[in-house]
Amino acid sequence: MLVPKKVEVFVWRVLKGRILVLIELDKRGVNLHSVRCPKCDNAIECISHSLLSCEKVRDIWVRIFDWWSMPRPPNFDLRGLLEGNLGQVGSELGKNLWQAVMWMCMYLVWKSRNEKVFKNKDWNVSVAVCEIQVKSYEWVAKRCKAKVIDWDSWLHNPQDIFL
Ligand SMILES: [Zn+2]
Repeated sequence: MLVPKKVEVFVWRVLKGRILVLIELDKRGVNLHSVRCPKCDNAIECISHSLLSCEKVRDIWVRIFDWWSMPRPPNFDLRGLLEGNLGQVGSELGKNLWQAVMWMCMYLVWKSRNEKVFKNKDWNVSVAVCEIQVKSYEWVAKRCKAKVIDWDSWLHNPQDIFL
């Protein structure tokens, strides 16, 4: 597996709807001041809003797709990103790497959300994208036994790894 166990467990919990966004806490009877998204304050915080459609998160996804020269999907949908959307990638290795990057992106988006909620740490798209690139290299590229991946290619031409 190209991602750490904790990322795999996180993705499983997303697919099962077991991420404790504010609307889920509210359903469980937790008394909250507000169920609005802590990042944008413009919508109720459900899972797909928090990880995907929030205006503060969407820019991160756009930049991750651009980084990999991937066409942006017309409809960002959670299950599609987690399970598929790999049609444009030629090789099996490329598919695995790109899927791992999307999982990592989702995991780190959630981690940043928690830093905002619990430490009031501000949201910065460029810092988040950079963290995803560094962490995914540490976690994904270094776990990849099939091919040696150098940092420069990872950062500038990850799509070349498909060749
Ligand atoms: Zn939001």
